[in-house]
Amino acid sequence: MVIGDGAYIKKINRSLILQKIIEHEFISRAEIAKITGLNKATISVQVADLLNEKLVQETQQEHNTVGRRPIMLSINGNAGYVLGIDLDFKEIKFQIADLQGNIVEVNTMAIHTEVYEEVLYILVEEIRNYKEKYSTSHYGLVQTIIGVHGTVNNDEWIQFIPRLQWSNKDLKSDIEREIDIDISIENTANLSIFAERVYKYPDSDNMLGIVLGSGIGAGIINDGKLVKGHDGYAGEIGHMIIFPFGQECRCGNSGCWELYAAESVVFSQLMEKLDRPSLNYHDIKQLLAAEDPETYDVMRNFISYISIGLNNMINSYNPETLIINSELLKVYPNAIEEIVANLQSSVCVYGQIVLSDLGKDASVLGASALAIQNFFEVKEVVFSREEVLA
Ligand SMILES: [Zn+2]
Repeated sequence: MVIGDGAYIKKINRSLILQKIIEHEFISRAEIAKITGLNKATISVQVADLLNEKLVQETQQEHNTVGRRPIMLSINGNAGYVLGIDLDFKEIKFQIADLQGNIVEVNTMAIHTEVYEEVLYILVEEIRNYKEKYSTSHYGLVQTIIGVHGTVNNDEWIQFIPRLQWSNKDLKSDIEREIDIDISIENTANLSIFAERVYKYPDSDNMLGIVLGSGIGAGIINDGKLVKGHDGYAGEIGHMIIFPFGQECRCGNSGCWELYAAESVVFSQLMEKLDRPSLNYHDIKQLLAAEDPETYDVMRNFISYISIGLNNMINSYNPETLIINSELLKVYPNAIEEIVANLQSSVCVYGQIVLSDLGKDASVLGASALAIQNFFEVKEVVFSREEVLA
């Protein structure tokens, strides 16, 4: 940082003004001055630039009060678009949002290959189509963020995706070689907790997000920022050992948490016990409604193992908000109450434990929100609009 550097200060002020406009949705120049403490002349010059760049627009407030109607500023949503992608096993989800964070379209595509080059080809084709489709807007497609269900290092290289068996892939460069586009790669558990903060818990600065699926991942927010660790791999809590000398894990250790508390464990145990070739969330909901004893047994066991890992996580991070993203716990009555009842240790202290409302959309919502934050170069974004969550 260079103290007293005019250009630097100008950039900081611009970022602060943009952040307040995003946060408030509609705000007048006078209100920005009041909140930020910046003087009116500075705001006026900066806003003139933003209007020129078509990033911000003016609207005259409805005539419902006596006196002058203030001119309100808001983000020019249609000036550009962002693309959030969840690259999962057997399917890819694409979400387009405008610069105000409104979701414009969501498409899920089934993929029938795990071969890196073939998935790369599909991604390049799809991103190229979206880029073309939104090219008539002022800025076009400004940024794309791809969430992957594996470890991503600080240089955005994919270190390992277990389900796809991909290691050391430079997906970012491989796509950028084919299309002229700004692209980022991020872990989906990180994107999910980012979405929870942006859309649901903007006032919570210390958060833990646990995502249960075929494995267990975690996203950590400390003092309002994502915690990624030295190389970028923080949050690989599925491989926390909860059972000394337990079942062997493909990571090389044994007794890892996800061998006992991933959702896939419940599905395979129940399929075997009930002798059913397949099961989905709806089937389990029905089995629970019918009070099937074996289903209750497996679910209670699952909840105890979840609680053991959560106890360890809570003791490590003392979170204000702990969010569990699990479709399976959503179909189980009183899941949170049972987990809370298991967390009886006097040193296991947290603010609140909740189930995620964002569910499987959390990662693409997080990807879009992060892309918008990067595009505007602001410290944080907050989208409080309810329709985004629908
Ligand atoms: Zn492991």
